[in-house]
Amino acid sequence: MAATHEAQVSAVAATALDHDAIIVGAGMSGLYQLIRLRELGMRVRVFEAGTGVGGTWYWNRYPGARFDSESYSYGYSFSRELLQEWSWSEHFAPQPETLRYLDHVADRFDLRRDIRLRSRVAAAHWREEAGGWEVALEDGSRHTARFLITALGPLSAPTLPRIEGMETFRGQSFHTSRWPHGPVDFAGKRVAVIGTGATGVQTIQEVAKTATRLTVFQRTPNWCAPLHNRPITHEEQRRIKAAYPEIFRRCQETFACFLHTPDSRGAFEVSPEEREAFFEKLYAEPGFGIWQGNFRDILTDRRANALITDFVARKIRQRVEDPLMAEKLIPKNHGFGTRRVPLETNYYEVYNQPNVRLVDLRETPIERITPEGIRTGDAEHELDMIVYATGFDAITGGFDRIDIRGVEGQRLKDRWAGGPQTFMGVLVEGFPNMPMLMGPHTALGNIPRSIEYNVDWVTGLIRHMRERGLTRADARPEAVAAWTDHVKAVGTGLLSNEVDSWFTGVNRNVEGKQTRTVARYSGSAPAYRAWCDEVAAKGYRELALA
Ligand code: NAP
Repeated sequence: MAATHEAQVSAVAATALDHDAIIVGAGMSGLYQLIRLRELGMRVRVFEAGTGVGGTWYWNRYPGARFDSESYSYGYSFSRELLQEWSWSEHFAPQPETLRYLDHVADRFDLRRDIRLRSRVAAAHWREEAGGWEVALEDGSRHTARFLITALGPLSAPTLPRIEGMETFRGQSFHTSRWPHGPVDFAGKRVAVIGTGATGVQTIQEVAKTATRLTVFQRTPNWCAPLHNRPITHEEQRRIKAAYPEIFRRCQETFACFLHTPDSRGAFEVSPEEREAFFEKLYAEPGFGIWQGNFRDILTDRRANALITDFVARKIRQRVEDPLMAEKLIPKNHGFGTRRVPLETNYYEVYNQPNVRLVDLRETPIERITPEGIRTGDAEHELDMIVYATGFDAITGGFDRIDIRGVEGQRLKDRWAGGPQTFMGVLVEGFPNMPMLMGPHTALGNIPRSIEYNVDWVTGLIRHMRERGLTRADARPEAVAAWTDHVKAVGTGLLSNEVDSWFTGVNRNVEGKQTRTVARYSGSAPAYRAWCDEVAAKGYRELALA
């Protein structure tokens, strides 16, 4: 692909650039960035690979997809009118509703005229002589702009397992993130789901309702906790709308921008009875409280983590009738909360249903996929459908799929071969005028909150440049080194950084991603924002501006 697009991306004369900015992606970050850049009077073009806007909520149409953050903490906060006119129907809204919301945003702010759909970016090359970027789409067209803003999303590059015979399967098969737009019926079908991350868990709950037989192929179980979703009543709606300033203020203060934040007590600072009662309370409450609002040391202290791990294991044993099945569903190689906690609704009870089977791939690995189904060490599983809930080449995968080249043709992929190096997760030295939204080394958490901050920071930088007639921004190497060291330092001691998962950049289906890297900023969101705010307040001294 790179060679083809090298031919397409020809030299750009130092004459007029087509646009002031090109944004890659029309998901939550791309849409908001477009709104902000328009306010600066800029000519902006958004290229979006999909046939509609919405990013993650456009692509992930699998059954059961929904928020794990409270709906009212997830929507955009920037427009009071938007907040008042949009009513979320459930505490954790389902994907179709979120997609409708983002379509509504696109219409309400008249965004579509600057968005080109069905336009996947294949290459982006910095052109020093033009002082901008030249972008090549897969359709062969070329476009230039002063700024290239990546709004790719940290979970946008789906990955399939590498199993022999996959292409020979005669039934239907889908990756959850490439789900068909039309209805998919499981009734009367023998369905397999491979993967038990947050996506697999949501899918399994739904498929189990109607499939004749559901076989779950699990390699590593995850620690799941109840979502406790329910509709938002009329009265709650009124209170939520009145409380928005307070809701978003709280999100600004918490560790990861969720409504939940760690309890100030350590797990051993209370009596065993108090501790048990606190765990019970969290398990009975909606959302991420049990993960994000637990004792302050459960994600850093092994002994504290063992307590909550034991508590959730007991819950699984209570909920799953067959003790052997329960043991298979209890993770043994990592503690609770050290990977992203999937939130569930009757997930464990699914395994009590007569139409559901669990295949533990650690005992009986998949040998191959055949035209009829999946062959493991000890059985042939005949199937009508295979659902791959096998995750993403996270954080850097979206970047790796585009041939991005900076100063003197340096490839971003090569630059990051040993792990990403960035300044605040926003800029990469040698790749001028390429701000990244939700790039590696940014604080993720409750993503829209981080997106709004990230976009506003980038907009502030561009405004600063435009007011001073500056046209080139690059990160200074010493600033990149300092930030990259800082990101590594803040992650030290976090148990999640000692476990294989997308948090630590591991994806065994992707070449070169078998070992852990520090791909995300794992300090607190307020600390991240304080750092970025100071850079702006002091006039962007860490950047070479010209
Ligand atoms: P994931 O967490 O990476 O899970 C992928 C699953 O596929 C894992 O169970 C993995 O097993 C399995 N797998 C991968 N390759 C396999 C193979 N070759 N054979 C067998 N099993 C294989 O991906 P995800 O579930 O799509 O979730 C990714 C992230 O998306 C989540 O952590 C979350 O941040 C986000 N998400 C959010 C929501 C929400 O907000 N509601 C919903 C869904 C997802 P191993 O663990 O053994 O690798």
